[in-house]
Amino acid sequence: MPGVKPSSSLTSLMMDKQDVTLTSLTQYARRPGATQSSSMLQSARQQTSDEKRNTEMEDKKAVQAPKKKRKKKHGITANLSGTRYEVIRLMCEKCKFDICKDDDPNSYLIWSDSFVSADRITELKPFQRINHFPGMVEVTRKDCLARNMIKIQRHHADEFNFIPKSWILPADFSMLQNYAKDLKAKKKYKTFIVKPSNGAQGHGIQLYRNAEKIPPSEHFIVQEYIDKPLLLEGYKFDLRIYVLVTSCDPLRIFIFNDGLVRMSTDKYTNPSDGNLGNLFMHLTNYSVNKHNEFYQKGDSVETGSKRSIRYFNDYLRKNDYDIVLLWRRIYDMVVKTLLVAHPHLLHAYRMCRPGAPAGSDSVCFEVLGFDVLIDRKLNPWLLEINRSPSFGTDEKIDFDIKSALIEDTIRLLNIKISDKRRNYFAQKAEAQKRLFRTTKRSDADMTELDKKKQSIEKRKEELKEHLARVRKATAREDFENRNAGRFRRIFPSEDKMKQQKYVNIMSSIFGIVMSGRAPAMQKEIQKVYNNQWREEDLLDMIAECETDEKDGKLYSGGSKIPRGPKPLSSMPVSVQSPPMEDEFEEMEEEEAEYASPPGSPNLNRRESRPPSNKSRPGSLRPDSRVSNDASSLCNSRPNSGVSSMRSRPQSNMSALNSRSKSLSRLTGKQSVLQRSLIDDNFLITVVKEREDELTKKTLQALNEMRIKFPGKTDQEAELILDTLHENWKFHKPRIASYWLVKLDSIKRRKVIDIVRSNVRAVLQRIWRISDVDNLRLYRIFTRVFNRLLWSHGQGLWNCFSTTSQNGSWETIFSKSSENICENEFNCCRRIVQLCRDCLLIVYQFAAEAKSSSQHNSENTDLSSTGTLSSRDKSSSTVMALPSTQTMSQRYSKLYPRADTTAT
Ligand code: ADP
Repeated sequence: MPGVKPSSSLTSLMMDKQDVTLTSLTQYARRPGATQSSSMLQSARQQTSDEKRNTEMEDKKAVQAPKKKRKKKHGITANLSGTRYEVIRLMCEKCKFDICKDDDPNSYLIWSDSFVSADRITELKPFQRINHFPGMVEVTRKDCLARNMIKIQRHHADEFNFIPKSWILPADFSMLQNYAKDLKAKKKYKTFIVKPSNGAQGHGIQLYRNAEKIPPSEHFIVQEYIDKPLLLEGYKFDLRIYVLVTSCDPLRIFIFNDGLVRMSTDKYTNPSDGNLGNLFMHLTNYSVNKHNEFYQKGDSVETGSKRSIRYFNDYLRKNDYDIVLLWRRIYDMVVKTLLVAHPHLLHAYRMCRPGAPAGSDSVCFEVLGFDVLIDRKLNPWLLEINRSPSFGTDEKIDFDIKSALIEDTIRLLNIKISDKRRNYFAQKAEAQKRLFRTTKRSDADMTELDKKKQSIEKRKEELKEHLARVRKATAREDFENRNAGRFRRIFPSEDKMKQQKYVNIMSSIFGIVMSGRAPAMQKEIQKVYNNQWREEDLLDMIAECETDEKDGKLYSGGSKIPRGPKPLSSMPVSVQSPPMEDEFEEMEEEEAEYASPPGSPNLNRRESRPPSNKSRPGSLRPDSRVSNDASSLCNSRPNSGVSSMRSRPQSNMSALNSRSKSLSRLTGKQSVLQRSLIDDNFLITVVKEREDELTKKTLQALNEMRIKFPGKTDQEAELILDTLHENWKFHKPRIASYWLVKLDSIKRRKVIDIVRSNVRAVLQRIWRISDVDNLRLYRIFTRVFNRLLWSHGQGLWNCFSTTSQNGSWETIFSKSSENICENEFNCCRRIVQLCRDCLLIVYQFAAEAKSSSQHNSENTDLSSTGTLSSRDKSSSTVMALPSTQTMSQRYSKLYPRADTTAT
């Protein structure tokens, strides 16, 4: 960024090199205005004598400075223990982050080169940021990308024609062979490239002139070879384009305006039997070509086997290529590819972050490396997407581009020291809101007017939420416009027509991928991305609600004034309840201004401020620390004598209110603090007892649940399960193949969702809340569900193992800092059991459907279930695993016993 000085370590890195030669100094310096390596050289040479003197003086000072001088702490921490790239550390320092010494799970920023588990993402606090999205694998593994693209291409062939024709082996082997035979019959000759599904850096890649010779190997993909690539000085090249996704809910995509052009090192000629083995001609990977003696290091922008996209654009311009057209096509390709990923990203993200308010800051972001080949007609072809692109800086050009990319990424994330504090207050406000909600009166107790009032309040709340979302979106856009640096936002698009087109495609993709659940999502998509809500309209609607509320008519006609707990504003406000969990000490150290949580008008700024260490009464030592987040109270075992809270909420609330009133007569700072403490602790005990009781009831209900086999009684279903267990040796390999191979991730999720939706219903009924996403217990369950889906279903499969404890679902709790109580743990155990039963029943159902369909049709082949590449085969998927509607219709009821019927 202009005006930002290089950090000390960046300077020191530059100075080290300067000792050697001036040229090598400039190798690591970057960004005069925005990285121009030639002007970098110039500016280094033009260093004034004044600057030199200053540098010398600084050096002297550094020598004299006492060794112990502590680095100034800025408070925003970065955990870089998971990355090996120095340039990330340098840029974090440049952006004034404190680099954690070890793997601090509470850092503001966590950067990891490798895959991040769903659990880790679930455990993040809302102010944290991590550089991966769950679910991104759906476009970053070559076979997943191909499979998802093929699925969408069936419906939008013209829009998704930027992926070379692909086959996933071994499933599509016969299709590939048929294609090859067709070509032969037509006397057409094409070249094919075979790549390992999970490969990288050119490993294991082979070219074939005759597809009939390709072996049906496992875990490979085959693509048509793009044999007429655009050439640069006679060499084949591909582009490494950097794309930043800052959020998936809603989706926001940026493209970096520079990148790498990676050239092969032997001049290109059309593929022939003689040159197929020459990887220096056909592959453009740096990792391959650096081994060629002709590889040229990029010391200047115009020579070298690696060049910048800026250089490439100049080259195109000079040679009269339509550069605008090319980049429009590339942007379009990037957006559409991420639209294909979006349902997976959104689903996985919402699973990991249940209860996160829509439009809230994303805890995930991702820098993706798109590998793109350009053909002679200037069409871009997507070869693959890297979720951990290399940030190695072997050459000056790497450092120039990657350091700018990372710096701009960090700046766009907009991480602020106050985020942590704001998160704390938001959680506190949410906890109070929840507390209020759990003591809500039942419908039977309410008069018509009460209900009317409640519905107006609900509407007002919804409108306020919309308003907050709209304002947040405007503020975010504002920030992005000012801080995008060299990024350009490509989704949502500024171009209204284009945006509408993308929204329609997105909506259609959701329809293809999610089938049954799509309509609700499609409605949401239109609302979120088409800007249907304007701030002024929302304000008007809220004002209308308020007028309705104040309207005397509501309480006229002798109606009683509504009874029951007063609204949130009359609840005892915690004056000084301590911060959540281990943030206690850290927060005392922070000096920045407190920020009130958005949408928590009752939290008066002064009152909400946690007291300084000195003013904190002795009773608030860390060991007496309590969180007033109702949802986190099950962390500890409840106090002795858990009593039923069924009949207590009302009396507790009135006791609370009268206690508040009597305490409110006390004056002085001390009494205010004491009052708040007593109120807080009293409330916490009440909620704690109540939550424990409800957890117990939930466990009871879960224990009574049974998986229903369509058309069979509970006893018959039990018998089926027993039979499967008795003949386990026979069924084990079949069930493993069904679950782990035949079902794809969406179908596996649907099986788990059968249990999930019923568990939700039980929670809604027992906890008497419609929005269970915010419930701590549900969040714990979500972690279990995620675990069962982990590693392509391996999580659930491990739960069938009788011997191995390793990899079992329980480790998610043993490895995490969160404690769960016994009843919560037993609930999770029961859920795992239900999921296992559910898989067995679905498997048995599919097997029965298969045998009956075999009677009906000779052509049905269950073994092809889950194969997405063939229309014939996908139809058998429906029979083996019912389509979404069929499945949800048939399985949507886990049969709880009569007394616990789910709502
Ligand atoms: P890897 O992950 O191993 O690098 P890629 O899919 O990126 O695998 O392919 C490596 C290289 O092979 C690419 O950089 C490109 O030069 C070449 N390549 C890959 N697929 C094709 C294709 N369909 N047509 C032409 N060249 C290709």
